[in-house]
Amino acid sequence: MIRRCVQSEAKELDEVWMRLAGVIVPIICQADDCGRRFWLPIDRHGVYAFFFKPTEYTKYQMRIGRSEEDIEKEIEKAQCPICKEQTMVFIMKRESALKFRQLVSEAQFVPPSQMRLPGEEVTNVSPPGSPAPSRSDFIDIEAHYVSDKVYSQLIGEINTCYEYEAYSSALVMLRKLLENLIVDILRFKYAPAGQHDKYFDYTTNQFLPLNALISNFEQIVNEYAKYGLLKSHVAAIKGFRKEGNISAHSIVDFVSGEKLLAIKKRANESVIVLLRIIGIIRGILDEKGRIIKKK
Ligand SMILES: [Zn+2]
Repeated sequence: MIRRCVQSEAKELDEVWMRLAGVIVPIICQADDCGRRFWLPIDRHGVYAFFFKPTEYTKYQMRIGRSEEDIEKEIEKAQCPICKEQTMVFIMKRESALKFRQLVSEAQFVPPSQMRLPGEEVTNVSPPGSPAPSRSDFIDIEAHYVSDKVYSQLIGEINTCYEYEAYSSALVMLRKLLENLIVDILRFKYAPAGQHDKYFDYTTNQFLPLNALISNFEQIVNEYAKYGLLKSHVAAIKGFRKEGNISAHSIVDFVSGEKLLAIKKRANESVIVLLRIIGIIRGILDEKGRIIKKK
């Protein structure tokens, strides 16, 4: 009797503690033919979770090792209440999660917005791994295209803004990404001949404003046509510049989620083609955008 009391008290305390300190993570059992959804309590909040079959564990560890990225994770094992099989879970802070996601696009991903407080299991939540439309990545690009840490950081920020419905900020960051990509292409093209004024203004010691960058870029569109660059991409980029400007400078005119969804496809196409050009110039991608294997 006493023992039961102590146990139940301990359990209650546990629950109180969980409620204060942590969240529950929706997991889908990764055992073949099971697929049951259940909740894994963790003692933290504001973190990201990835879950996958235990057989993938070594592969992902190796990918992290090879990438030489600084990825910190905690490992949890979630046991399915029905089939008793284990599903592996990596818990990470945002910084590491963004990097890990670039490396392992196939692991199921749970952002903090899909986690719940203990006791809120019944709250409607979209199935993990297949995020609701507003929560899927805004810039959804295969990792091998992203040849620079700066690009992956910018893309990560755009996606985080989008995920948290900070749409105006997402647009401002998109503008910044395009700016960086265009500067890099102009730099590859003109720096060897010393024509830095095509992208840099020595009187102000700053990069040219985006409209000037775009118009210099427009003059060399034909050179990159063979890599898939179209006039319509440049037109789309001009459009994003305007939108990004408005978002950055207007005080009250917030951008809606519908608006962002409407430009998502064009934005991805533009970013992909610029990344492909950079990948090809750097010798990382072939002319069809396939990764060149190192010998
Ligand atoms: Zn199961």
